[in-house]
Amino acid sequence: TLKINLPNPAMIILIGLQESGKSTFANRHFAPVEILSMDEFRARMCNDPASQSNSSPARKQLFDTLRQRLQNRVTTVVDSTNLRSDHRAQLLAIAAESGTPTVTLVFTASAEWCRERIDNRARIIRDDVLTQNAKLLDQTLRDIDGEGHFAVFRLGNEQAESIRFEHAL
Ligand code: ATP
Ligand code: MG
Repeated sequence: TLKINLPNPAMIILIGLQESGKSTFANRHFAPVEILSMDEFRARMCNDPASQSNSSPARKQLFDTLRQRLQNRVTTVVDSTNLRSDHRAQLLAIAAESGTPTVTLVFTASAEWCRERIDNRARIIRDDVLTQNAKLLDQTLRDIDGEGHFAVFRLGNEQAESIRFEHAL
Protein backbone atom coordinates (compact mmCIF):
# COMPACT_ATOMS: atom_id res chain seq x y z
CA THR A 1 0.00 0.00 0.00
CA LEU A 2 1.04 3.52 -0.78
CA LYS A 3 0.28 5.89 2.07
CA ILE A 4 -0.52 9.47 1.21
CA ASN A 5 -0.58 12.13 3.89
CA LEU A 6 -3.56 14.34 3.39
CA PRO A 7 -3.49 17.83 4.90
CA ASN A 8 -6.78 19.04 6.32
CA PRO A 9 -8.22 20.73 4.40
CA ALA A 10 -6.73 19.72 1.08
CA MET A 11 -7.73 20.14 -2.53
CA ILE A 12 -7.30 16.85 -4.38
CA ILE A 13 -6.90 17.17 -8.14
CA LEU A 14 -7.49 14.00 -10.16
CA ILE A 15 -5.98 13.83 -13.63
CA GLY A 16 -6.44 11.09 -16.20
CA LEU A 17 -8.01 9.88 -19.42
CA GLN A 18 -11.65 8.89 -19.81
CA GLU A 19 -12.21 5.52 -18.06
CA SER A 20 -8.89 5.67 -16.23
CA GLY A 21 -10.71 5.13 -12.92
CA LYS A 22 -10.88 8.64 -11.42
CA SER A 23 -14.52 8.64 -10.31
CA THR A 24 -14.29 5.09 -8.97
CA PHE A 25 -11.29 6.12 -6.91
CA ALA A 26 -12.94 9.31 -5.66
CA ASN A 27 -16.06 7.46 -4.58
CA ARG A 28 -14.05 4.82 -2.76
CA HIS A 29 -12.15 7.34 -0.64
CA PHE A 30 -14.40 10.38 -0.26
CA ALA A 31 -17.98 11.28 0.58
CA PRO A 32 -20.23 12.39 -2.28
CA VAL A 33 -20.40 16.02 -1.08
CA GLU A 34 -16.60 16.21 -1.09
CA ILE A 35 -16.38 15.35 -4.80
CA LEU A 36 -16.96 18.00 -7.48
CA SER A 37 -17.35 16.20 -10.77
CA MET A 38 -17.59 17.96 -14.13
CA ASP A 39 -19.86 15.18 -15.40
CA GLU A 40 -22.26 15.88 -12.57
CA PHE A 41 -22.23 19.66 -13.02
CA ARG A 42 -22.92 19.22 -16.75
CA ALA A 43 -25.66 16.70 -16.08
CA ARG A 44 -27.34 19.09 -13.64
CA MET A 45 -27.52 21.69 -16.39
CA CYS A 46 -28.84 19.59 -19.25
CA ASN A 47 -29.17 15.92 -18.14
CA ASP A 48 -26.22 14.96 -20.33
CA PRO A 49 -22.97 14.42 -18.40
CA ALA A 50 -21.01 14.59 -21.67
CA SER A 51 -22.57 17.77 -23.06
CA GLN A 52 -19.66 19.76 -24.49
CA SER A 53 -21.78 22.89 -24.98
CA ASN A 54 -22.34 22.97 -21.21
CA SER A 55 -18.71 22.43 -20.23
CA SER A 56 -17.84 26.05 -19.84
CA PRO A 57 -20.81 27.05 -17.60
CA ALA A 58 -20.36 23.78 -15.67
CA ARG A 59 -16.70 24.57 -15.05
CA LYS A 60 -17.61 28.03 -13.84
CA GLN A 61 -20.06 26.64 -11.30
CA LEU A 62 -17.63 23.94 -10.25
CA PHE A 63 -14.94 26.57 -9.64
CA ASP A 64 -17.38 28.72 -7.62
CA THR A 65 -18.36 25.76 -5.45
CA LEU A 66 -14.73 24.78 -5.05
CA ARG A 67 -13.76 28.30 -3.97
CA GLN A 68 -16.57 28.40 -1.43
CA ARG A 69 -15.71 24.98 0.00
CA LEU A 70 -12.03 25.85 0.39
CA GLN A 71 -12.94 29.11 2.07
CA ASN A 72 -15.02 26.99 4.44
CA ARG A 73 -11.90 24.89 4.97
CA VAL A 74 -13.29 21.53 3.90
CA THR A 75 -11.41 18.98 1.81
CA THR A 76 -12.56 18.85 -1.79
CA VAL A 77 -11.83 16.54 -4.72
CA VAL A 78 -11.91 17.85 -8.30
CA ASP A 79 -13.01 14.95 -10.50
CA SER A 80 -12.55 15.70 -14.19
CA THR A 81 -9.86 14.83 -16.72
CA ASN A 82 -7.87 18.00 -15.82
CA LEU A 83 -5.56 17.36 -18.75
CA ARG A 84 -5.22 21.03 -19.73
CA SER A 85 -2.56 23.06 -17.98
CA ASP A 86 -4.70 26.23 -18.14
CA HIS A 87 -7.48 24.46 -16.22
CA ARG A 88 -4.99 23.21 -13.64
CA ALA A 89 -3.56 26.72 -13.30
CA GLN A 90 -7.07 27.99 -12.52
CA LEU A 91 -7.47 25.29 -9.87
CA LEU A 92 -4.11 26.16 -8.30
CA ALA A 93 -5.05 29.84 -8.25
CA ILE A 94 -8.30 29.06 -6.43
CA ALA A 95 -6.44 26.92 -3.88
CA ALA A 96 -3.92 29.70 -3.36
CA GLU A 97 -6.70 32.18 -2.48
CA SER A 98 -7.36 30.20 0.71
CA GLY A 99 -3.83 28.82 1.12
CA THR A 100 -5.08 25.26 0.63
CA PRO A 101 -2.45 22.63 -0.24
CA THR A 102 -3.11 20.63 -3.41
CA VAL A 103 -2.53 16.90 -3.58
CA THR A 104 -2.53 15.90 -7.24
CA LEU A 105 -3.03 12.34 -8.42
CA VAL A 106 -2.22 11.50 -12.03
CA PHE A 107 -3.83 8.29 -13.30
CA THR A 108 -1.31 7.05 -15.83
CA ALA A 109 -3.57 4.45 -17.53
CA SER A 110 -2.78 4.47 -21.26
CA ALA A 111 -5.20 5.22 -24.08
CA GLU A 112 -5.08 1.54 -25.11
CA TRP A 113 -6.05 0.41 -21.63
CA CYS A 114 -8.89 2.93 -21.43
CA ARG A 115 -10.03 2.27 -25.00
CA GLU A 116 -10.53 -1.40 -24.21
CA ARG A 117 -12.82 -0.60 -21.32
CA ILE A 118 -14.70 1.99 -23.31
CA ASP A 119 -15.35 -0.68 -25.98
CA ASN A 120 -16.53 -3.12 -23.34
CA ARG A 121 -19.01 -0.64 -21.94
CA ALA A 122 -20.17 0.57 -25.35
CA ARG A 123 -19.67 4.10 -24.14
CA ILE A 124 -19.35 6.74 -26.78
CA ILE A 125 -15.98 8.44 -26.68
CA ARG A 126 -14.55 9.31 -30.04
CA ASP A 127 -11.29 7.62 -30.78
CA ASP A 128 -9.64 10.84 -31.94
CA VAL A 129 -10.65 12.52 -28.67
CA LEU A 130 -8.93 9.79 -26.69
CA THR A 131 -5.84 9.96 -28.91
CA GLN A 132 -5.68 13.74 -28.47
CA ASN A 133 -6.15 13.41 -24.72
CA ALA A 134 -3.36 10.82 -24.56
CA LYS A 135 -1.04 13.48 -25.98
CA LEU A 136 -2.22 15.91 -23.32
CA LEU A 137 -1.58 13.26 -20.65
CA ASP A 138 2.01 12.78 -21.90
CA GLN A 139 2.54 16.53 -21.79
CA THR A 140 0.97 16.67 -18.32
CA LEU A 141 3.32 13.99 -17.02
CA ARG A 142 6.26 16.06 -18.26
CA ASP A 143 5.02 19.38 -16.86
CA ILE A 144 3.23 18.53 -13.63
CA ASP A 145 6.18 18.61 -11.21
CA GLY A 146 6.94 22.20 -12.18
CA GLU A 147 3.41 23.58 -11.89
CA GLY A 148 3.43 24.27 -8.15
CA HIS A 149 1.31 21.47 -6.74
CA PHE A 150 1.98 20.76 -3.04
CA ALA A 151 2.38 17.03 -3.82
CA VAL A 152 2.09 14.97 -7.01
CA PHE A 153 1.61 11.21 -7.28
CA ARG A 154 1.62 9.18 -10.49
CA LEU A 155 -0.60 6.14 -10.19
CA GLY A 156 -0.80 3.08 -12.39
CA ASN A 157 -3.98 1.07 -12.01
CA GLU A 158 -2.64 -1.34 -9.40
CA GLN A 159 -1.23 1.54 -7.37
CA ALA A 160 -4.55 3.37 -7.51
CA GLU A 161 -6.11 0.28 -5.94
CA SER A 162 -3.66 0.16 -3.05
CA ILE A 163 -3.68 3.77 -1.80
CA ARG A 164 -4.37 4.60 1.80
CA PHE A 165 -4.92 8.19 2.89
CA GLU A 166 -3.56 9.27 6.26
CA HIS A 167 -5.74 12.15 7.36
CA ALA A 168 -4.22 15.01 9.32
CA LEU A 169 -6.34 16.21 12.21
P1 ATP B 1 -14.38 9.66 -16.95
O1 ATP B 1 -13.22 10.60 -17.15
O2 ATP B 1 -14.99 9.29 -18.25
O3 ATP B 1 -15.37 10.13 -15.93
P2 ATP B 1 -13.20 7.92 -14.97
O4 ATP B 1 -11.73 8.16 -14.99
O5 ATP B 1 -13.99 8.60 -13.93
O6 ATP B 1 -13.77 8.25 -16.41
P3 ATP B 1 -14.35 5.51 -13.91
O7 ATP B 1 -15.74 5.82 -14.28
O8 ATP B 1 -13.95 5.66 -12.48
O9 ATP B 1 -13.37 6.35 -14.87
O10 ATP B 1 -13.94 4.02 -14.28
C1 ATP B 1 -14.30 3.46 -15.53
C2 ATP B 1 -14.53 1.97 -15.39
O11 ATP B 1 -13.35 1.29 -14.96
C3 ATP B 1 -15.61 1.60 -14.39
O12 ATP B 1 -16.40 0.60 -14.98
C4 ATP B 1 -14.84 1.06 -13.18
O13 ATP B 1 -15.57 0.06 -12.51
C5 ATP B 1 -13.59 0.50 -13.80
N1 ATP B 1 -12.40 0.65 -12.94
C6 ATP B 1 -12.12 1.71 -12.17
N2 ATP B 1 -10.94 1.57 -11.53
C7 ATP B 1 -10.42 0.39 -11.93
C8 ATP B 1 -9.20 -0.34 -11.66
N3 ATP B 1 -8.27 0.15 -10.83
N4 ATP B 1 -9.01 -1.51 -12.28
C9 ATP B 1 -9.93 -2.00 -13.12
N5 ATP B 1 -11.10 -1.38 -13.42
C10 ATP B 1 -11.36 -0.22 -12.84
MG1 MG C 1 -15.51 9.99 -14.04
